[in-house]
Amino acid sequence: MPFCPECRYEYTAGSTRCPDCDTDLVEALPHDKPVSGLRFVPLPGLPGRVYAEMVREVLDQEGIPCYLRSDGLIDSYGISGTGPANRGVRIFVPEDALEEAVRIQRQMMDHI
Ligand SMILES: [Zn+2]
Repeated sequence: MPFCPECRYEYTAGSTRCPDCDTDLVEALPHDKPVSGLRFVPLPGLPGRVYAEMVREVLDQEGIPCYLRSDGLIDSYGISGTGPANRGVRIFVPEDALEEAVRIQRQMMDHI
């Protein structure tokens, strides 16, 4: 079935154009976020989850993709504060952004 790459609406066979977007239909939708080729590496350890969340926020603002992972634990968003989830939190960033991310993290830690 053809799809509109803009609004992702699925059209019946034989359609070639999305009237809403004025865009040519494609046979298959591209993947949401091609992440192949990106290798994620951990930043140096942080004292706790609260700090990790703060650093992540700044990295987001700087346009550096990142995610948090607790060492050996399933990441549980919404649960903060005490408990084992507060320990061993690592921020993962793409390898080619590591230097920049470390610099940002250091800067932030200096101000706390
Ligand atoms: Zn469309």
